[in-house]
Amino acid sequence: MPSYIRFILYLIAATSWGANGFATDDTAKQGNERFTQADNRTFKSFDPLREQTWQHPYFFMQLADTQYGFFNENKSFEQEVALVEKAVEHINRLHPRFAIVCGDLTNATPEHARYRAQVAQYKHDFSKVDPDIPLVCVCGNHDVGNRPTASSIASYQENFGDDYFSFWTGGVFNIVLNSSVLKDPSGAPDVLAAQQVWLSKQLGAARDVGPNHILLFQHHPLFLTQADEPDQYFNIPLERRTPLLDQLKQADVRAVFAGHYHRNAYGLAGDMEMVTTGPVGRPLGEDRSGFRIVSVYETKIEHKYWAMDEVPETINLASQGQANSTPNQKRPSSEVKPKPIAKSSLQRNVFNRDAPGIPIIFEAGMGDDLSVWDNVIARLPPKNRAMVYSRHGYGESPSSDEPRDAEHIISSMHR
Ligand SMILES: [Zn+2]
Repeated sequence: MPSYIRFILYLIAATSWGANGFATDDTAKQGNERFTQADNRTFKSFDPLREQTWQHPYFFMQLADTQYGFFNENKSFEQEVALVEKAVEHINRLHPRFAIVCGDLTNATPEHARYRAQVAQYKHDFSKVDPDIPLVCVCGNHDVGNRPTASSIASYQENFGDDYFSFWTGGVFNIVLNSSVLKDPSGAPDVLAAQQVWLSKQLGAARDVGPNHILLFQHHPLFLTQADEPDQYFNIPLERRTPLLDQLKQADVRAVFAGHYHRNAYGLAGDMEMVTTGPVGRPLGEDRSGFRIVSVYETKIEHKYWAMDEVPETINLASQGQANSTPNQKRPSSEVKPKPIAKSSLQRNVFNRDAPGIPIIFEAGMGDDLSVWDNVIARLPPKNRAMVYSRHGYGESPSSDEPRDAEHIISSMHR
């Protein structure tokens, strides 16, 4: 190619690059702030001191794998746009305490030619979320690469803030991890090491405050159904999974929420729930595109996945404690019905709440509490609703001097 033509091409490229740069900078100034709240290893929207205290039951929405570009191999993203539009409508109508997108925001990785366009569309669509609903973004393997490096993580940080951080929401301590370095640390061993040191400090600091719950969010499930299942594409290798699970259980982490699998999965590690949530974008199994709603109560959490077209109009928080009503704070249009904690209510967990099959009740015998059923529950088919509980005086169920007849036992299960 003659050098003058090469020079002209260079000028054209440089000019259009500059134009794009300015357009992106403008958008950045107007709408980027909400996407860079994860800063200095915390999330700026939440006041850490105020939020360390339990306030009232609330719910948040957990989304995953919007993955702009996946339906059509990066050529376009109309289907993702349509699904995110629906998700944003639900977010604005239900008005959660916050919405969190657990990774794979885009399909293209930072070095891909389509990355900028997909990020711009993601931000354009999520900018329509009501400004008083914090939108928490988590990095996935598509956001930082299957083998993340310092530079791929830096690209992510430029667009979406920190890759790992923590924040408090009304008595609950939330931790967000960069799970891609847990999956494959070979390109950024220092990042994994730093994250691990940070995590240990965070769990120690949380213990000193005494949170109602500790919740952890990341892109990769630690495991899908069994804490010790063999390594595979969708989980974290046992080599790093086992010590991390031990640490999280030790710290009394209530649940880990993840995506990446593009369908739902569930398992337990001791009492800790491992919740894998289906995609906003393209599904890879039978679960349709949707998201999860997580209700947080003073002593328990409940969660359920909703396909995009089946999301309820309102969320009912049947409160365990006294619901405080703050005039300035928008509430979901659902009714909040305070219900005092019944002294003799039982520690229990309910699974597959709306499943059509015959309900199963697991009772722990001898001196055991409900955790004795963990390994069985982990293999529970999704078609059966199930409840497991600890009898009075075992596990976290208080003792009771009520008669131990069928009528009283059944009634205490309903409290
Ligand atoms: Zn993924």
